[in-house]
Amino acid sequence: PYVGPTAEEILAKRKEYLSPSLFHLYKNPVNIVEGKMQYLFDDKGRRYVDAFGGIATVCCGHCHPDVVEAIMSQTKRLQHSTVLYLNNAITDFAEALASKLPSNLKVVFFTNSGTEANELAIMIARLYTGCHDIISIRNAYHGNAAATMGATAQSIWKFNVVQSGVHHALNPDPYRGVFGSNGEMYARDVQDIINFGTSGNVAAFLSEAIQGVGGIIELAPGYLPAVYSSIKKAGGLCIADEVQSGFARTGSHFWGFESHGVVPDIVTMAKGIGNGIPLGAVVTTPEIAEVLTRRSYFNTFGGNPVCTAAGLAVLQVIEKEKLQENAALVGSYLKDRLTALKDKYELIGDVRGRGLMLGVELVTDCELKTPAKAETLHVMDQMKELGVLVGKGGYYGNVFRITPPLCFSKEDADFLVDAMDLSLSTL
Ligand code: PMP
Repeated sequence: PYVGPTAEEILAKRKEYLSPSLFHLYKNPVNIVEGKMQYLFDDKGRRYVDAFGGIATVCCGHCHPDVVEAIMSQTKRLQHSTVLYLNNAITDFAEALASKLPSNLKVVFFTNSGTEANELAIMIARLYTGCHDIISIRNAYHGNAAATMGATAQSIWKFNVVQSGVHHALNPDPYRGVFGSNGEMYARDVQDIINFGTSGNVAAFLSEAIQGVGGIIELAPGYLPAVYSSIKKAGGLCIADEVQSGFARTGSHFWGFESHGVVPDIVTMAKGIGNGIPLGAVVTTPEIAEVLTRRSYFNTFGGNPVCTAAGLAVLQVIEKEKLQENAALVGSYLKDRLTALKDKYELIGDVRGRGLMLGVELVTDCELKTPAKAETLHVMDQMKELGVLVGKGGYYGNVFRITPPLCFSKEDADFLVDAMDLSLSTL
């Protein structure tokens, strides 16, 4: 049994010693003391089905024994040496990672987070093209440092920092967007930005395949191929932010961009890559990677042996346990059950997503699509009481984000939908 401080004591210390900007998801926050695969346990030993997976971070399952073993055995041998010396952990993982990417995407730069990966990708694109302008999509989330906060396009995540050379294109959002599911119409906005907002040349276009923080928005079909073609003509690079949609989460493919039939010039990743260990990466072609030889580029912890040993174990577990197939199977089962729930409750305006990256949007009026923010909070709290943790997102905070560990089972899916059903019925 747990013998540490109570939730109240931790909360009091958080208030006193941690940033006042920290938020938590529930009226009475849970004190999570243990995790095992798709389950979390609180200080009273109560089990929760984790349908948020640390924001799509835990892909193999909490404390997966193979990943833990890889971390422990590497930790005992060598934790850090700097990449100035040779060690096989980093090269073994880089080779395995490159084998998962298409085309000539095979040069890997390791970072410690998604923000760092996107910052580096943007800098590489600017260096390679000699241009400054970046285009990202409204409602996107790409990180919280200088360039990435600029590329992020939701006011709630943007501080008053100088945002230079960033343009935000119309969101190709099939549910709320002005052109519905017509991806090519939204893509025209990117061409317009190039024509009327830049010199005609740009450094890069940066986007998620499915917006995560933005509320699980799948980009309208046909959008990415048309945009990639415009960007290439303008001399720019296409960057795929796979921080949430990568590592088999979408089920049908290993990377989110693959379902759009495009091949990016640069792919960035984090979260799932380390199953909870701080790790990120930028993967690009040898030709593009060359630009970093113009100066010295160095990252102290990026690619350290402990994190890269974990990364390699993650890839092996995804393969061994057929997690991509499971994400496809359980994901489509769960989506079908959620879609059936939509027929039962008018409050559910939309069910969307792919694999185990699903969203449920609540609206008080299906025609006007009025965000049901308070109801979302209420249902989320009720579901927690019933033992299910889901995430929340979208600009209006009215979308459930369902991004569990990829070992999620049909039984977990049933439990989640039944808990959502019961919670919706109490409104
Ligand atoms: N890109 C995407 C798509 C993300 O969802 C996030 C984090 N929510 C980031 C980048 C930034 O990653 P990190 O928090 O590791 O810096």
